[in-house]
Amino acid sequence: MTGGFSASTDGPLPVAPAGGWVIGGNVPWSVSWTEEGSYDIRLSTDFPGLVDLVQVERPGVGAPRFAALHISRHRLGMAGHLCHVCGKATPPRDRYVFPKESGGFVVMPDDSSRYAGNVPPVHLACAKRAQQLCPHLRSAFAEPVAFPREESRLIERTSVMPGMEAVARDLPRNLKVVFTCYRLFGPRFTKQVQQLRGLG
Ligand SMILES: [Zn+2]
Repeated sequence: MTGGFSASTDGPLPVAPAGGWVIGGNVPWSVSWTEEGSYDIRLSTDFPGLVDLVQVERPGVGAPRFAALHISRHRLGMAGHLCHVCGKATPPRDRYVFPKESGGFVVMPDDSSRYAGNVPPVHLACAKRAQQLCPHLRSAFAEPVAFPREESRLIERTSVMPGMEAVARDLPRNLKVVFTCYRLFGPRFTKQVQQLRGLG
């Protein structure tokens, strides 16, 4: 990384539990840490012709920021099906998502809607740990859903994410920068998610 841009890391920090923070245990691999507040840009490998925003990597240093996913780890997880909780590859038979609690619907050019997932998948064992440790999943009684075999596509987002305005201001104007990405699922899985959400 050369140069770099900084984002503010204001906000209350979580208090470390007695045994400390453990990535893959009580801290998901994909979340940011307080010492990871600087960014740079690099040619994208997942989106040829575009430039990726990359975030400095210092996992485990400082305190975890549960509300902010790490931009580079998130993209790696989304592109390579790495587990949101532990960071290891999820084989197709052990790959789950929480589509009722995360992601949303995207309207396609033909006016149909498709489910768009914005959190990397998890192993079933990691999903069960997340159900116990994540207040959001626990209060929603979230259940993991098997990742579909139906084809899905990784789509880039070049619009500025909320909270990243200060970083965006320092970026070169003439570049299309990938801030984040999501996975666009097929019509069958979309129907399944609509039914889970009581929409179908
Ligand atoms: Zn895992």
